[in-house]
Amino acid sequence: MTDYFDVIKKYDYEEVSIIQNKKAKLLAINVIHDTTRGPAVGGTRFMKYKNEEEAFVDALKLSRAMTYKNAAAGLTCGGGKTVIMEIEGMDKKLAFQTVGRFIESLHGRRYTGRDLGVSTEDIDVMRTETKWVADETSAGVGDLSEATALGVVQGIRACLEEAHGSDSLKGRHIAVQGVGEVGYWVVKYAIENKAKVTIADINQKAIEKTAKEFSVTVVAPHEINDVDCDVFSPCAIGGIINSKTIQKFKCNIIAGSANNVLATDEDGIALFDRGIIYAPDYIINSGALIQWWYRQKAYEVKDRIDARDAIGNLYHVLRNILRESKEKKLAPFIVADQYAERKLKKEKTYRDFHWGYISSTGRNRQET
Ligand code: NAD
Repeated sequence: MTDYFDVIKKYDYEEVSIIQNKKAKLLAINVIHDTTRGPAVGGTRFMKYKNEEEAFVDALKLSRAMTYKNAAAGLTCGGGKTVIMEIEGMDKKLAFQTVGRFIESLHGRRYTGRDLGVSTEDIDVMRTETKWVADETSAGVGDLSEATALGVVQGIRACLEEAHGSDSLKGRHIAVQGVGEVGYWVVKYAIENKAKVTIADINQKAIEKTAKEFSVTVVAPHEINDVDCDVFSPCAIGGIINSKTIQKFKCNIIAGSANNVLATDEDGIALFDRGIIYAPDYIINSGALIQWWYRQKAYEVKDRIDARDAIGNLYHVLRNILRESKEKKLAPFIVADQYAERKLKKEKTYRDFHWGYISSTGRNRQET
């Protein structure tokens, strides 16, 4: 236990709670990592863990990652996460109700949505207990995968500018790994911008849908890493930049939506040493988060700006990160963390302020 207290102290976690309901067989962990910039935003995850410890560590790590992601995206919110352990024979409905009630008891210090294993139906169950939850079914949020793709294309443009002094996609060759919800839109925008596109997917239906609609070259899933191209865009799974693949890439840019694409930090450094420009995953794939945050109605953002403008701004965020990476001779993923940390320090802190009354329609920060 001492070890965890050390971690909690080291990374400055604000609040860690265990939520239990024996009748529902519910054991969940809610972590508010940081509310410096506003409420702790981050999804609720529902999955099988080996044990309580694994779930606890996951909640700690994910909530902190959300603080960085939200800060780097320029959102007026902090980071949090709720992890519900999937347990045989549990009463799922009662479990989600209980978690919803818990979220409500935080009066807006925590705002949650969908993460792995949580369906829109589960969110609806939570919604019966709390207003501090939203997902893509909330009014006006729009297609979040499309929003992610829009951000990815902004990121690709920023990388092209860094590499070639021009951010135009025209005539550039982009290899897209995975043409699911996000990849499909990346292909669409790339084609619209007159890029040449190669795709691969393990799902034949996804390939057929995309290849029918757009003029693309299709390769086998195991070949996509080796395509001689300008941009490799991973939009499928994590861990694909690793000791086996790094020397094989024939691109000079890697920019896509997939989470945790760097298998290890060492791989991020090796990629940088190879001279391949990498757009840090949690920055380039934050389009959905940005759109969700700005558009969901339950929460009134004082300084509301248009979600699409905020996604467009990812271009400048990535330009700055890549420039700083070059100047400091530091891998972009390290610079991205430093960028988020600076934003956290620079911003007015709500964490240490009196929160005041929070209205039923949103926050009403009473700054002291
Ligand atoms: P998705 O499941 O709709 O699409 C992923 C596609 O990748 C599928 O078509 C799948 O068949 C394919 N795939 C899986 N393994 C593959 C492999 N080895 N080679 C080639 N293709 C493979 O998921 P999505 O919503 O499009 O998300 C894609 C990635 O982006 C994920 O890593 C996700 O975590 C991340 N992401 C998505 C969003 C979003 O808005 N959907 C936001 C942020 C991050």
